[in-house]
Amino acid sequence: MFHSFFFLIFLLFPPKLLLARIIPSTALEEQQHRRTIFTRFLGTGRGTEITGLSDLKKYFNRFGYLAPPRNRSESFTDQFDRRFELAVVTYQKTLGLPISGKLDSDTLNEISSPRCGVPEFPALHARATTKRFDYFTSQPMWTRGIPMTLTYAFSSQNMINSPALNDIRRVFKRAFNRWSVVIPANFTETEDYDFADVKIGFYNGDHGDGEPFDGILGVLAHAFSPEVGKLHLDAAEIWAIDFSSEKSDSAVDLESVATHEIGHLLGLAHTSVKGAVMYPSLKPRERKLELKMDDIKGIQALYGSNPNFKLTASLQSDISSSSRAVNSMVKSSMIKLMTMSIITILLLFLVM
Ligand SMILES: [Zn+2]
Ligand SMILES: [Zn+2]
Repeated sequence: MFHSFFFLIFLLFPPKLLLARIIPSTALEEQQHRRTIFTRFLGTGRGTEITGLSDLKKYFNRFGYLAPPRNRSESFTDQFDRRFELAVVTYQKTLGLPISGKLDSDTLNEISSPRCGVPEFPALHARATTKRFDYFTSQPMWTRGIPMTLTYAFSSQNMINSPALNDIRRVFKRAFNRWSVVIPANFTETEDYDFADVKIGFYNGDHGDGEPFDGILGVLAHAFSPEVGKLHLDAAEIWAIDFSSEKSDSAVDLESVATHEIGHLLGLAHTSVKGAVMYPSLKPRERKLELKMDDIKGIQALYGSNPNFKLTASLQSDISSSSRAVNSMVKSSMIKLMTMSIITILLLFLVM
């Protein structure tokens, strides 16, 4: 069951990192936490011992980068050891960050950002030569006829007062539509909650699936991979639809989260492409709505293309920028190869 239960949790801070979060947290408390993370860990690498590093290890363990201690009775230590260094390198590679093996500012910035709780599957990214999308283990997808129609419904028992239901319905309609534009799929809202393929609701705290929500800006939401179809959002968040009327620093864009979660419901896991919808982090007040070429390639590889799908000008430029990145990788590999050849020739020449 667990492999099909992939929960989507957005965290502003790692669980219990540097002592438990005070709930409800404020923007000021969050800034203080963030500062503490940076002052404590910035620039540290293998061979050091830093108080609180064991909490970072728990964070890496939770998201799929670090195995639990070999002996089950032991807990993580504060030692920056070889295993942790490998975890940091894998994290950097998987999330498309500069690879230093140290807790540098890019890495700490990502760790302290709000993110989705679905663990990554670093093995694929570690092997890959280019940054790209990913799927869940065993690549589950909806097995319906093409074009497929999936119904979705909102739980009448588990809703929030603000934003209003009709506004939430419009947000989800737009979010589903972004995916149906690119694949041969239709999403229709139904009143029949019990028989809907996708069931959407807002929940508080422990709500019976082993992944309790934790108040403002902790866990935001979680979703299940195909064909479970459950999408749960944390009722305690400040869900925003329009930031011009919602001024809170801790507000989270409902439409961005909905679009990302629907990607999980359809079978996409996290990508290492930073600008893509399926990248795991999203900051408060950030809007990330438009599917990028990486999201589109990933989902079309599962379901095929919507026959009416056309590349827009911005997607065209998205393709050319990603091929430029690939070209520069190829170029740098060629330069390395040439350098090695020259060194080999020189060495041979010296030996002779
Ligand atoms: Zn996610
Ligand atoms: Zn849940």
